[in-house]
Amino acid sequence: MNKELHEMKYLAEKVADLKAKGLYRTLPVNQGACEPVLQLADREVINLCSNNYLSLANDARLKEAAIKAIERYGVGAGAVRTIVGNQSIHEELEKALAEFKKVERCFIYQSGYDCNIGTIQAICDKEDLLISDQLNHASIIDGMRMVKATKQVYAHSNMEELEALLQAAQGKYHNIFIFTDGVFSMDGDLANLPKIVELAEKYGAFTYVDDAHGSGTMGSHGRGTVDHFNLHGRVDFVVGTLSKAIGVKGGYVACKEVSYQWLSHRARPVLFSTTLSPADTAAAKKAIEILTEDDSLQKQLWDNSRYIKEKLTALGFNTGHSETPITPVIIGDEAKTMRFSKALLERGVFVSAIVFPTVPAGTGRVRVMVQAKHTKEQLDKAVAIFAAVAKEMGIIS
Ligand code: PMP
Repeated sequence: MNKELHEMKYLAEKVADLKAKGLYRTLPVNQGACEPVLQLADREVINLCSNNYLSLANDARLKEAAIKAIERYGVGAGAVRTIVGNQSIHEELEKALAEFKKVERCFIYQSGYDCNIGTIQAICDKEDLLISDQLNHASIIDGMRMVKATKQVYAHSNMEELEALLQAAQGKYHNIFIFTDGVFSMDGDLANLPKIVELAEKYGAFTYVDDAHGSGTMGSHGRGTVDHFNLHGRVDFVVGTLSKAIGVKGGYVACKEVSYQWLSHRARPVLFSTTLSPADTAAAKKAIEILTEDDSLQKQLWDNSRYIKEKLTALGFNTGHSETPITPVIIGDEAKTMRFSKALLERGVFVSAIVFPTVPAGTGRVRVMVQAKHTKEQLDKAVAIFAAVAKEMGIIS
């Protein structure tokens, strides 16, 4: 063995480069559940960076459902779904999701990420054209990379450019797919789904919407952006995650029966990786039941997000043009963004810094994510700390 070689000098150099640029991070450790206030090793902090929009991640009803599922089904499914990992709880979750989303079928995956890479790979082919919004999530991009098709990217939400691509593609490909996030996770803006659907219908393309951040937050009772725009039945594939507003872990694609049948034979993350745990599955099913019956958590979420957005904007922060509960606070310079988030954490507010390559270079930001269960006192305290730190750093005057 070449000891020098295996000391990983080439990786050490990359890590040193991150450190030199002020981009190296160590992860704070949460000592308990994902609540509005978190207990870190040495202090309590207000949690403004989770995707636990509806505060369901530590909800007693979901925990009870998970415990009951463990008692009946065990802690692991024991195999991939296509062998013997298909338990009745998995079927029940799919049925509940399909009713909730008002679609023929929902096909579950172990995560939203798996759902995108698995679905895209299974439904697209090398003779196809895959058209993608420039700001789509990494899991759409990774899914597209796995297909040997022609790929084209349009400037963010630029519908003229999308139409030009569709026009130019006529007659040249087997199938055309348009991929978009429903809610863009770094800016919180919505895709122009009515226009995308109109163009897809005009030019004979399939539509694929990743609604990870729209699930549980947008539309009636959190049915998502397709419901928000009243486009039921007109989007071919709608991806949802169980890992954000639903509070658990997993993903699914809402689709036609025949798409479900094909995916269950070809979706590689499902074919080659063990299925969702019974506890996760049962907890997610309970969350869907709660959302179906009651939209009060969704209302609390929106109330809190409007509240903090207004306060931060009034202080002079650049909060972008979000249309959803996501509030970006755009700082610009990457290293300054990292310093800002670190200083906030030291003073008791936990928001994540988001920098290149997750967002374009020079648009570093901290992303403020409230939950339904934050109190106004907690939000006021967080805003006061934002103001104090930002003034000290010259971010606001
Ligand atoms: N799509 C989008 C738009 C996301 O923001 C995320 C999570 N960051 C995912 C998919 C992946 O979801 P999951 O965490 O369930 O893998």
